[in-house]
Parts: sequence; structure tokens; C-alpha cells
Amino acid sequence: MREESLKTLKGIGDKTERLFQKAGICNLNQLLHYYPRDYDHYAEPVACGAVRAHEKNAVTGCVVLPPEVKSGKHAMTILHLRDETGSLQVNWFHMPFLRSVLKRGSVYVFRGMVSEKQGRKILEQPEIFTPAQYEKLRGKLQPVYALTAGLTSRMVGKAVGQLLEKKELEQEFLPEDIREEYGLCEINYALENIHFPGSGEALKRARNRLAFDEFFLFLLGLFRLREQTGSESNMYPMQAVWKTEDIIENLPFQLTGGQMRVWNEIERDLKGHTRMNRLIQGDVGSGKTILAFLAMVMAKENGYQSALMAPTEVLAAQHFETIRRLLEENRIFDAEPVLLTGSCTAAEKRKIYEKTASGEAKIIVGTHALIQEKVEYARLALVITDEQHRFGVRQRMRLKGKGFEPHVMVMSATPIPRTLAMILYGDLDISVLDELPKKRLPIKNCVVDPSYRPRAYRFMQREIQNGHQIYVICPLVEESQELACEDVISCSRRLREIFPEDVQIGVLYGQMKPQEKTAVMEAFAGNQIQILVSTTVVEVGVDVPNATVILVENAERFGLAQLHQLRGRVGRGDAQSYCIFIQGDGKEETSKRLQILNHSNDGFYIAEEDLKLRGPGDLFGVRQSGLAEFKIADIYRDAELLKAASRAARDLTELDPDLSLPQNCSLKVRLDAYMERQIDDIGL
Ligand code: ADP
Ligand code: MG
Repeated sequence: MREESLKTLKGIGDKTERLFQKAGICNLNQLLHYYPRDYDHYAEPVACGAVRAHEKNAVTGCVVLPPEVKSGKHAMTILHLRDETGSLQVNWFHMPFLRSVLKRGSVYVFRGMVSEKQGRKILEQPEIFTPAQYEKLRGKLQPVYALTAGLTSRMVGKAVGQLLEKKELEQEFLPEDIREEYGLCEINYALENIHFPGSGEALKRARNRLAFDEFFLFLLGLFRLREQTGSESNMYPMQAVWKTEDIIENLPFQLTGGQMRVWNEIERDLKGHTRMNRLIQGDVGSGKTILAFLAMVMAKENGYQSALMAPTEVLAAQHFETIRRLLEENRIFDAEPVLLTGSCTAAEKRKIYEKTASGEAKIIVGTHALIQEKVEYARLALVITDEQHRFGVRQRMRLKGKGFEPHVMVMSATPIPRTLAMILYGDLDISVLDELPKKRLPIKNCVVDPSYRPRAYRFMQREIQNGHQIYVICPLVEESQELACEDVISCSRRLREIFPEDVQIGVLYGQMKPQEKTAVMEAFAGNQIQILVSTTVVEVGVDVPNATVILVENAERFGLAQLHQLRGRVGRGDAQSYCIFIQGDGKEETSKRLQILNHSNDGFYIAEEDLKLRGPGDLFGVRQSGLAEFKIADIYRDAELLKAASRAARDLTELDPDLSLPQNCSLKVRLDAYMERQIDDIGL
């Protein structure tokens, strides 16, 4: 069933298939593993007076008077509900036909978000059910999927529903005794209940199992890799060089004590007997890039090549610029730096391949394209991955396949508690950059509701007049019917109307063409754009020190760690910076969570407090970290599960290192496929 086309399902033709493909779902197997991002609970309907603002409510109401239709640019249909508990206004946009659909004297259940305007509650754009229809759904959890334009949760749900009718979706691959020991449910039960949970309890069990699987396979992969990489001796021994001292001397700032300490550790590694395998962990803005640069220069001076890999093209391009500038400032002319990304033209690529294969290019910057099949290196001795959440495993597998066992340096701003880092990063040594550059003023934060926007805009205008720049972050790219939150397109239009003409506004989001993205980022870095309206694509690594304000719309939609990363885009220069979180949902618990950010700029503290606030039972909140490695598991929320999976993987590897025992046969097949997919997934 795995690779079968979606069109084998009823109701999916060419057009719908394309919509699914856009969301990254190309076959039945991918559909099955396209887990909901949330669940909609069909609660007991309430009376008009009992609705709660800023939440989804189901309201039972009788149509006493037919709805009125206000025509105009946004045709609006308004219905007034009333019962003994109170009254409630119901609004629909663009649905004038409802006037003839809603029968006078009939009772319906209306279900939708309730907003509050000037103290008055309004039910917005609700779905309409007959009481009998609603009764069938009552108490159930319905899946909500992450969507792209055109695809609705209902469409995905229907397609998945058809799949689930088959009895065995997947063969069980976890050995019986592991399932028993760790209290894990069967795989088919998990798949069924992750999409359509029979109950809250069933959902919890399903999620637990699938999250365990992700950790478990990841860790087994890590162990296998470690086994295979075998020799850990330093095949590229280096000498300390004067050039790096010169660079440190010439910097416009002084390295922090932390940076000096970590640089010494890196230098020692590169000179040592064993290969470097080091994780450099440092909060946003702690200054990791300069360490990468120093290491690359040391490699070059020793006659080797080094590569710096970034997770996005935007970041790769930025690093390239930084490195080029630093090389020039330090009068280093023989490094021949190159930038290799997916959007290079074929001709450009050919040229770069030549330079890397001949060894002419000593410093190579890029995305995952760097370890593509076609790229050959002459003397690649050092690979650095930046803001890299993939722990370098896939990359190392790739390079190993090419016959290289270079020094590996992983740089990350994700604040992972040490115990977890030791599991996830396997055998990496860990260096911590624990101080921020001096002279930095702490970022000033505020958490406000949407009514504060006009004031925020006035403030932004003042900052722009003072020569500074602004980020505005929205959770969505385009307006969505299903999710009531801010989007990049509408937001940039609104800003355009408000701000004077000489203020340039740019937009940035994932689906833009790579060249467009790079162009926008460059314009922002060069201050040709003053306001950048963006999704979270700027989350990692982007460094424009002149930006002093970041305004985050619908802050409740993001995990705290993610918000902290976003906030890290400002406060990178000497000027005072500001972070404005706009909370769109008015909920008490959200405010509480956001207050953690409001009161601290320390990534570790934030991650820990967030965990405490959630408690281990809270499984389905906002995803905590943007760690791309795991689809459903979350290293913070599932810390205990991660430890369990680590124990299980270790025990199993000790007992049956190559999974040759009969009870581990299915697991072996699954692990092989997993490893294969990890390599494919590098985005080639
Ligand atoms: P991150 O650790 O988030 O990757 P960067 O390496 O991008 O941080 O550094 C953030 C900014 O701080 C850069 O503009 C960099 O030039 C500057 N910087 C780095 N180290 C120092 C320092 N010791 N003192 C002052 N500024 C520094
Ligand atoms: Mg960085």
C-alpha cells in the first residue's frame, strides 16, 4: 500500500491530488503519516448566555426571525438568537443564501468562534447542524490538519478515513517485549487513533506510541551510525596558526570569555589525536558564527577545505556574505569562498563543483546541496552545521558514503537540558557559550492584545525615523477560512496603507522562490526594506543588527522556544531593541505562558519554565520547538519518553547489535527503510 497513488481513493482526482501534493502528501503512506496538528472537540451545545469569548462554542438556538442580509463589499448575514439565558448575534460573511436555508421556527446547533467586540459577544461564521447531525458528533475529537490553500481538514479527514477502513495498515515492528515493558499500544491502533481518537485516553496512547517510535528509530540509527563510523582518529591533524590570532585581534569587538574558551576547545580538537565531534550550544546572539569562521580559517591555513551548512538558503546566503566580508577585512585572498545552494543555475553549479573538486575553493558555504551526490571535495577536513537541528546524523551518513570522516562541529541555539542533549547528540562533546557579548542592552518586551496595534505602529514609525528596521511575524501566509489569525499578505497590505510611502515593506515566506527570498533578505540587510513581514522563516540565524523591533502577531500560536528564537532576531546590535507579542486569543493560560517570555531573555530558563507550566500530561499544546527531526515527538514535552526510548535502544543494541534475532526481524526492515529515507530526505 505504501507507494500507491492517492487516486486509488474515492473522490480524489487529478485536481485534488495536486492539492495534496502541494501539502507534501504524494502517496497513501504519506497520507497515513500526515498526523493532525490539533483536534477539534465537539462539546455539549450551550445556551446563548453561556458562550465563552475567544473559544469555539456550539450553541443551540431557535430561528425566531429570519436573518437580515447586509449587502456591500462584504455581504454579511446576521442572525439574532435569544433564549431565557440571553441573546447572541451570529455573523456570516458572503453567505446571503442562508436567509432561505435557515427555517423560521427551527432549532439548529451553530458552532464557531466567539469574538468579543465592545463587551458584546458575536458568534462568527459558524457551521450549521441540525440537532440530530450534531448529536452524532457530540463528544468526539475530530482531526485538524495543517493545510495549504485549497485543502481542508475535512478533505484530508475523508481520505484518511477511507484508508483506515483497511484492517492492517502497517505491520507491527516493535518487538513484543519492548511494547510491554514501555506500555506501548499496537501500531495500527496508534495510527487509527491519532487520526480519529476514540477518546482522549486513546489519543494519548496513540501519540505516545508514535512519539516513542520516532525517538527509538532515531536513536537506533544514531547507534548504527556510530558503529559504522568506527575509527575516531584524527585523519586531518592541524597546527595552530597565527592568522586566527590576527583575526581575533582585528575584530571590532572583543570576544567574550565564553567565545575564547570555546575557541580554545575547537583549536585543541583540531590539533588532537581524535576527530572533532563537537556541539556548540549558545543562546541566540551569543556569537557562534565567528567561531565557525575561525575554525574554517584554521583549516584553510593547514591546507584543507571546510564546509559550512545552513538549514535555509536565506541563512546560507547571509553566512556567505559575512564570511566574504571577514575574509576581505582580514586580507585573506586565497580562500576562494563559494556559495552552493539549490537555486544556483546549472552552469554556476558546474563551476562550483570544479572548484571544490580541484581543492581551489577552501571555504564552502551552502545548504544541504553541499553533500549532494555530485559534489566532490579534494580535502574536506571540517564540516560545520549551523542552527542545525538534525544533529548532523544524516549529513554524516552522506559524507561517510563519500569516504570522508571530517571533523564535525554542530552549532545550535536550541536550549536543550544537558541530560537530553547527551542522548540526542550521542557522542558529541558539548561546549556551552554561556555569556552574551557585553554592551548589549536587554531586549524590552511586552505582551499586548490586538487593540494595541495602532500604538505599536506609531512606535515602529518612530524607530524607522531613527534609522532602524522592523520585523513583523505572522503565523500564516494567506488568509485562511479555518484559522482566525493574521497572515503575511493581509498584514503587509494593512501596513502599506498606514505607513508613509517612503517606508519600504517587504514580505518573506517559505513558498517563495529561493532567489526571491534571497533578494528580499539582501534588501532588508541593506536597509532598502524597512519593514519585513514574514512567517517564521526568519526564525533561525538571520542577523540584521540594525533591526530593533520585532512584532509577533498571534503569539499564542507559537511555542515559547520558538518565540524566543524569533525574538533573537533583534537585540543584535548596540541599540535598544523591543519585542511586541500580540496575543490574539485573550486566554488566561496563554497570557501566563507569554509572561514567562516577558520576564526573561534566557533561553534555558524559558524552556524549563514552559515545561513546568505544561506539566507532563499536556500533550497537545503548541509544538514547543521547531526541531525538524521529529514529526510528532517533542523533546521538551516528551523528555521522559525520550529517556525511555534511549534506554530501550541501548538495551536492544547490547543484546542484538545487528538485529539478527527473529523477533527483531521486522524492526530491522523498518530501521533500514528509516535510514534510507533519512538520506533521501536531505532535500536533494
Ligand atoms: P548567533 O550565536 O545567534 O549565531 P551571531 O554569530 O550571528 O550570533 O552574532 C550576533 C551578532 O553579534 C553579530 O552581528 C556578531 O557580529 C556580533 N558579535 C559576535 N560576537 C560578539 C562580541 N564578542 N561582542 C560584540 N558583538 C559580537
Ligand atoms: Mg547564528
